[in-house]
Amino acid sequence: MTTSLLQVPPPQGLLRPLAVPERLLLGPGPSNVPPRILAAGGRQLLGHMHPEVLQVMDEIKVGIQYAFQTQNQLTLAISGTGHCAMEAALLNLLEHGDTVLVAVNGIWGQRAVDIARRLGADVHELLKPPGEYFAPWDIEEGLAQHKPSVLFITHGESSTGVLQPLEGLGELCHRHGCLLLVDAVASLGGAPIFMDQQEIDVLYSGSQKVLNAPPGSAPISFSERAREKMLRRKTKPPSFYLDMGWLANYWGCDGEPRRYHHTAPINSFFSLREGLAVLSELGLESSWERHRANCTLLCQGLRDLGLELFVKEEKVRLPTITTVRVPEGYNWKEITAFLMDNHAIEIAGGLGPSAGKVLRIGLMGCNSTSGNVERVLRALRDALSHLRRSRL
Ligand code: PMP
Repeated sequence: MTTSLLQVPPPQGLLRPLAVPERLLLGPGPSNVPPRILAAGGRQLLGHMHPEVLQVMDEIKVGIQYAFQTQNQLTLAISGTGHCAMEAALLNLLEHGDTVLVAVNGIWGQRAVDIARRLGADVHELLKPPGEYFAPWDIEEGLAQHKPSVLFITHGESSTGVLQPLEGLGELCHRHGCLLLVDAVASLGGAPIFMDQQEIDVLYSGSQKVLNAPPGSAPISFSERAREKMLRRKTKPPSFYLDMGWLANYWGCDGEPRRYHHTAPINSFFSLREGLAVLSELGLESSWERHRANCTLLCQGLRDLGLELFVKEEKVRLPTITTVRVPEGYNWKEITAFLMDNHAIEIAGGLGPSAGKVLRIGLMGCNSTSGNVERVLRALRDALSHLRRSRL
């Protein structure tokens, strides 16, 4: 008998085939990846500096410029998820001791506060209860009081279902010598945003929501004002991986020959390219209208089921993710589990400040269809009647 030197045997789980069930992902993201985008991500690898990959990166760049409605040269995709883009934005903009004002009306503001504090910034919070949004005068008061160099605000607050109006905020920030940083991870492609016209200085998003690509790449863009602030830094950004100087070069944004910085997640870029291509073919306006119409349909259906929408004012309801109060007498976990087990549909409970209070239903990109609205409403009706029955 031969004795093995191995003390750890091959894991049984890996000796079985990979198991990936079919599910309809109607939570706050990720959303389902349609065959065309899946196929793009499954293409054979090329080298990360091959001209064909650099070409794909150039196509991603113009795709992001279209989706963001910007002419900014410094536009690229971060090799990481939405959080990575949030960190990249904050750590490149802020230096130790810089003052930042964060609009907090859900978990994303809380996360930005956490990140900015880790960077040693002087962080001030502008607070609103979950489900509410900021009016220009709320922002103006904060800017006048704290005199920040950066304001962070979330366009699509996916933990609460609020769509933050952005009109006038860029101009307001600039009048106060402040840069405007906007999180559009959950809203891009689903609700209008105009980076240049709205004078947004840094805007980022994610790949796995309306763009229907797998998670792992995150569009981001910097205005000339933001670029100038980064050029004036006295200290290097505290991350090599997310250093915008390096990334700008790798993405061909600085006019210099491209140098190796990191091995890009090439297949994620193929998928992101295809997600942006689908959005470009459909057109932003049609995409916004599709999300608006299906969200309206869903909200009506939820009301017809006797449920109460969490965001009162229709005009600030996020068209990509709808929040509805957990109905009296029900446990949200039982509802989400029922939908998963009996209908193979994912919806989610609340997150952060909305935890335990709401259910979240996402209709993003190819998942935003009237058929999916009907499916999720049927499944919810089923859940509500069964779970009540089991309680009696
Ligand atoms: N911001 C918002 C508004 C989000 O919805 C999310 C993802 N749920 C993130 C940031 C973080 O993105 P990721 O999970 O891709 O890191």
